[in-house]
Amino acid sequence: MCNIENNIKKNLQQVLSEIDETCANCERDRASVQLLAVSKTKPEQMIEAAYLNGQKLFGENYVQEGINKIKYFNENHPTWDIEWHFIGPLQSNKTRVVAESFAWVHSIERLKIAKRLNDQRPSTMDKLNVLIQVNTSHEESKSGVNLNELAELVDQVSLLPNLNLKGIMSIPEATDDYNEQLAAFEKLNSALKELQIDHPEMSILSMGMSGDIKAAIKANSNILRIGSAIFGERDYSNNK
Ligand SMILES: *Cc1c(COP(=O)(O)O)cnc(C)c1O
Repeated sequence: MCNIENNIKKNLQQVLSEIDETCANCERDRASVQLLAVSKTKPEQMIEAAYLNGQKLFGENYVQEGINKIKYFNENHPTWDIEWHFIGPLQSNKTRVVAESFAWVHSIERLKIAKRLNDQRPSTMDKLNVLIQVNTSHEESKSGVNLNELAELVDQVSLLPNLNLKGIMSIPEATDDYNEQLAAFEKLNSALKELQIDHPEMSILSMGMSGDIKAAIKANSNILRIGSAIFGERDYSNNK
């Protein structure tokens, strides 16, 4: 009927079968890999189409856009069980609405932000699930905490009672080379294993995007954050 809906259905099926096949090839339990559909810049209609094809987890990067979408779904589809993940950079003046609306935050890179989310999480809600964002590329410009500062931040965040520290997230430098993708992801896999010695509750690796799904699964990813492969290329021309 509608082109957009058909495309999303087809794309979603394609991504899911790539995940199925890759899990089978590297003998991973399919249930240990979740698909987070990254819907930033995309309209509610596309999220509705994905949900109606079985997708439950959605990721947003921009606070105001994310809040607007959550409000839309609360009002128009109050019975839908969407799990909203915030995956973008987070400034301290925006933490309150995130603490009040999202189920997960993947982009913790400073204690100050974690403390604010902890203080602002409503007591009526479940604990906020959080991941520490790690920068493995040693570029000053990149988001995330460096590996040599990771353990200290993890120790501090793990003490915050309204946060559930689940693991780590990263966005390695983009490359088309499978072996380079794998090397970067393996670094994160090792980092999580090391953290688990003191923090066995940390079990989640959020890594892998549209261009590096296979390498991410091979290196133990638990949450793939996939945008363009599901919703098509993003258009930033209207400054969204
Ligand atoms: C946009 C974005 C994604 C999705 O990227 P695609 O290449 O479109 O799959 C994943 N993670 C983060 C943090 C993003 O900002």
